[in-house]
Amino acid sequence: MSTLAPWRDEVEDRELARATAQLRRAIDDHQRVVVAAHVAPDGDALGGALALHLALTDAGARSVPVVGEDPLVLPSSLAALPGADQVRGQAGLPPASEVDLLVSIDAASPDRIGAASDYLDAQVPTLMVDHHARGTGFGDVRLVAPGAAATVQLVAGLLDELELPVTPSVATCLYAGLVTDTGRFGHASTDASVMEFGARLLAAGADHVELTRRLFDERSIEELQLVGRALARLTYVPDVALVHTHLTHQELDASEGELADTEGIVDLLRSAEDAEVAVVLKPAPDGTWRVSMRSTGQADVGALATAFGGGGHAAAAGFSATGEQDELIGRIVAWLRAR
Ligand code: AMP
Ligand code: MN
Ligand code: MN
Repeated sequence: MSTLAPWRDEVEDRELARATAQLRRAIDDHQRVVVAAHVAPDGDALGGALALHLALTDAGARSVPVVGEDPLVLPSSLAALPGADQVRGQAGLPPASEVDLLVSIDAASPDRIGAASDYLDAQVPTLMVDHHARGTGFGDVRLVAPGAAATVQLVAGLLDELELPVTPSVATCLYAGLVTDTGRFGHASTDASVMEFGARLLAAGADHVELTRRLFDERSIEELQLVGRALARLTYVPDVALVHTHLTHQELDASEGELADTEGIVDLLRSAEDAEVAVVLKPAPDGTWRVSMRSTGQADVGALATAFGGGGHAAAAGFSATGEQDELIGRIVAWLRAR
């Protein structure tokens, strides 16, 4: 039994053939390939990038996995993924003159890959692999399928086209993207084809027990303290069914924790019984707010994020902003009231 994945119809045969040819050439000619996950990588971006990096390396390409940010701080839940120790940050990006191909994973616009977008300016051939419905798009070849629950499904599709094996390490990386972007197989994007893909990854040897524990069941004391602080000041705005909170830059500085320790807060807010929209203002190292948003109802937070200069999906989106916390929340509330 096999269910056709909805994203299959969204990818043009011609584009898939071009993407496959690009990667085939990279393997056959031992090319230098940079595989870039989006900045502040999640399981889908990092898992997808590492899966492709490991498979390309095994097949003979000279691949480098990167996240174009400085400093590079991988969330501890993802730092143990196979190949994660090889990921380079902004300071370790190879010069453009030495790069034959850039592959971007789970990023809808150039700014999402941070400093790796310099390769675009330098005209490095680029393959974009993504599942966001909104974004400016970029690259010579674009595999974009909003119907995919996770970008890792597109990565696996590419590996199949190339007839590259899904080793246990590759399967673990792919599974990291699938289990995080589907909300542990709970979001509406989870259909029979997602479950079949998950089953295939388990059959291929994905280390799902250890991975799931790290991703969802293990938190540092510092993270729990930050979560507690954020939850303690949770605020509800009834007329727009908004639950919001924030952590200040001073609070994060005073804590042993890091920005990555605040990623889970928005999903806790989202679980509030009466919430349709959850918003968390998180203190980024550059002094700005990184805003995380989730919708459980009709509100399209992807549209909201786009209006504020960011992006994302209808149910999960984000943007960066400066200014006072009250004022920013006020503008978000105004947008929700006006829609
Ligand atoms: P997060 O709340 O960080 O988990 O982000 C949720 C989703 O929003 C991600 O999957 C991204 O697609 C999108 N997103 C977050 N921040 C940005 C941003 N600054 N620009 C564009 N998209 C974003
Ligand atoms: Mn992502
Ligand atoms: Mn994704």
